[in-house]
Amino acid sequence: MHTKSLVELAQGLRTGAFSSVELTQAFLQRIDQHQDLNAFITVTPELALQQAQAADVRLADGTAELLTGIPIAQKDIFCTLGVKTSCGSKMLDNFIAPYNATVVDKLNNAGAVSLGKLNMDEFAMGSSNETSYYGAVKNPWDKTKVPGGSSGGSAAAVAARLAVCATGTDTGGSIRQPAALCGITGLKPTYGRVSRYGMIAYASSLDQGGPMTNSAEDAAIMLQAMAGFDAKDSTSVDVPVPDYCAGLNAPLTGLTIGLPKEFFGEGLDPAIAATLELAIAEYRKLGATVKDISMPNLKLAIPAYYVIAPAECSANLSRFDGVRYGYRCANPVDLTDLYTRSRGEGFGKEVKRRILMGTYALSAGYYDAYYIKAQKVRRLITQDFKNALAEVDVIMGPVTPSTAFGIGEKMANPIEMYLSDIYTIAINLAGVPALSIPVGYAADMPVGLQIIGNYFAEAQLLNIAHQYQQVTAHHQHTPHGFA
Ligand code: GLN
Repeated sequence: MHTKSLVELAQGLRTGAFSSVELTQAFLQRIDQHQDLNAFITVTPELALQQAQAADVRLADGTAELLTGIPIAQKDIFCTLGVKTSCGSKMLDNFIAPYNATVVDKLNNAGAVSLGKLNMDEFAMGSSNETSYYGAVKNPWDKTKVPGGSSGGSAAAVAARLAVCATGTDTGGSIRQPAALCGITGLKPTYGRVSRYGMIAYASSLDQGGPMTNSAEDAAIMLQAMAGFDAKDSTSVDVPVPDYCAGLNAPLTGLTIGLPKEFFGEGLDPAIAATLELAIAEYRKLGATVKDISMPNLKLAIPAYYVIAPAECSANLSRFDGVRYGYRCANPVDLTDLYTRSRGEGFGKEVKRRILMGTYALSAGYYDAYYIKAQKVRRLITQDFKNALAEVDVIMGPVTPSTAFGIGEKMANPIEMYLSDIYTIAINLAGVPALSIPVGYAADMPVGLQIIGNYFAEAQLLNIAHQYQQVTAHHQHTPHGFA
């Protein structure tokens, strides 16, 4: 049952092959069996079974949607009413959200069953899921390796089939990078496509929620439920949501794919480059033409991001002060002691590093030199995407420079860890959508292909990914021991 796609499961629910309660029980059992992956922070079996019962009623009375009765899971960055929402941090270990994020409400309304909350890097800062207060997540393809981050729990759970699909968030690559390292499909929508209301903020001008699934078709169904204007998010964009499934089968003849030379140069594992070449050859067979392009400012993405994202995080995380909610130190002697020790004890090392970098970059003496400069670079990078996408329909490239690395391997070297997102970060700075699909293996570990499109071109990206998945089977592979 667990290896079936969302569409197949939806069909099984309709023909009565199984009920949502049975399906939910089967997934809860799998979560229990595979606790060693550490993919979940909180499992909510009672809530899930209640939702499954309600879904079975909808399935019986004909008001069900495609997601009704399907077991999913939420990254623990999305607020869930009455359920612990930790954001992977000791700071919020005691936080029971008093309301639902818009994304959670929308998926609930579609009838999806939530199995629980998924592990993640603390406050979504990381590329390996090792900064979580709840410990590292293991990659189901090789348990000595990381699943990527920050949505590492989401990627591991979907790859191991502990949930049919999951939510993720992507500030600099956190949907696409773990999707690539775990061999699943992950879509970062256009900035503003999916509401950020109730999604705990890391870097507000970059954060975007999206689906993590086993196929592009599943992602289309999930995005359909998640996307849309939300008056409660001032950066939500009021653009109509198209039918993401309608165009999945459109042929790719005439499609122009741009390959930026900056994506295929030094630093990319040759085994990944070779795998990507095969995937691109597949697209040629599907009728696409390929064009070499150049995006000269891509190389500036990492330094610009590591000024802008920490700057925004230093402002966003100032609310965690030990007063209003979250962790509070024991026996503070005065207010300063309360602030200092609550934050000192509640935040992990990487979060503190980011707050310090951000505060420094925003300080009066350095604001122009760092923050303003980084914003100017952001503008240049955005222009690179606009120029490229005026010339070609979509851009393709790697998602990660290497396949999943060993747990513990990069924790001592933050710069090396930051370089994991060298191919994904520019996309967030520009705000365009991009997805990652599995296209093969390098030394037995999954390799992802990144497909980047123009603003609000999610339907086109899903069509391009789906066409590849119609003629290949990588997306159907299950890691050894999880079939
Ligand atoms: N790895 C990047 C960071 O640590 C991106 C994380 C993300 O997308 N949330 O900031």
